[in-house]
Amino acid sequence: MLKWIGLDDTDSYSGGCTTWIATRLLIDNINNVLDFPYLIRLNPEIPWKTRGNGALALKLRITDEDAELRVKDFILKNSRMEGKTSPGIIICRQKIALDFFADKTLKDIVTKRLLENALSQIQDAEIYFIDDRKRGLIGAIAAVSHQWKDYTYELIAYRSDPGNERAQNLVDVLYLDSFTSPITFLNFDREEGKPLIYPHGPDPVLFGIRGEDPNVLMASFNLISNRAQMWAVFKTNQATNEHIIPITELTFARPYTTVSLTVYLIKEPQIVRGGHVILQIKDAKGNSAEAIVYRQTVTLNRAARELMPGDKLFIWGAVRPDARSLTINIHGFRPISLVQMEYSVPKCPLCGRSMRKTNMATFECERCKTKSHAFAVIPLKRQLLEGKDYLPSPSSFKHLMKPWSRRPLQLAFKYSSKYYGSRASRS
Ligand SMILES: [Zn+2]
Repeated sequence: MLKWIGLDDTDSYSGGCTTWIATRLLIDNINNVLDFPYLIRLNPEIPWKTRGNGALALKLRITDEDAELRVKDFILKNSRMEGKTSPGIIICRQKIALDFFADKTLKDIVTKRLLENALSQIQDAEIYFIDDRKRGLIGAIAAVSHQWKDYTYELIAYRSDPGNERAQNLVDVLYLDSFTSPITFLNFDREEGKPLIYPHGPDPVLFGIRGEDPNVLMASFNLISNRAQMWAVFKTNQATNEHIIPITELTFARPYTTVSLTVYLIKEPQIVRGGHVILQIKDAKGNSAEAIVYRQTVTLNRAARELMPGDKLFIWGAVRPDARSLTINIHGFRPISLVQMEYSVPKCPLCGRSMRKTNMATFECERCKTKSHAFAVIPLKRQLLEGKDYLPSPSSFKHLMKPWSRRPLQLAFKYSSKYYGSRASRS
């Protein structure tokens, strides 16, 4: 019988990883796997997430009740019960139709009340949780009710012992990037000379390669010399910007969400201590706010310094929950129209001196008495381009952020067992 298994929050700060558990389950049930495992990244702005805030869904053929129990026990046995971890598992016969709930987990805060409400609507499912916060159930339900729009894939490879150091192979990563980009992306940060496929935490992940095509990911895997113990390709909402809520005015920017809207810059960008750039912005209705572009975003921070008052921009970023006034932490912007002319006091055509303003738009040369009734118009040399997306450098990308290099293929790849493996099963 077909079963969907949703799980979340089995990982913790000190190691452990929900995708590792999912991969083990896939390899143990290799002949009964019916689809790619889903890796759903949830709202990155929620404060109680563990490292990646990703939930998993697996579609398995479960042969008998014992098999279902084995799956459940395996998940619970391998979950880390510490700190903020609050694992949740849901096992159900079909995908759950809870669009509103799934959408909320991607973009917003899910309250305990909303969770209880969702739970009351779910029928014919086994639900497991460890503590009363039930937090892991939020992701577990989201993963089995997620509706795909845009998506990408990630091949995740694991090491046998999380205590081992990750051997980083820069040359291999550069090869991989040259051969397979843009079908793969975020492999290497050329700006900073850093490979991006290796995580830094204590988790069992050796590396992850992100891309549009699972076959290219498998080929990429073989380009990286490695001692991975097991690996699997996940279907994911990473690199899709799916978490962004489009809003029409700043008054709709709620804390803990990521929003996008059109704004105007009111003042010169202000560079503060630490190299961060502060922008004073207003929307079409005249509501104003502050936006911050952190130094760590490198390329985005550099671009923000080039902005000028009067520039019209499409921006996206996270609404800060802790600021005294509305503040948006900018994740990217696209100039819609840039100020191209500067208006200034005209110079006297006879003597070349700056004229003096005598009226609203009347100027006079004090020496020659020449009058001008118009400002001088000076064309500006702008470094920024209208219509171009300005984004953080790849090193400061978060899971859901969409890189400009992405070329979605719009192909439906069918699951196959060739997308999973382990050294043990190979030999
Ligand atoms: Zn003059």
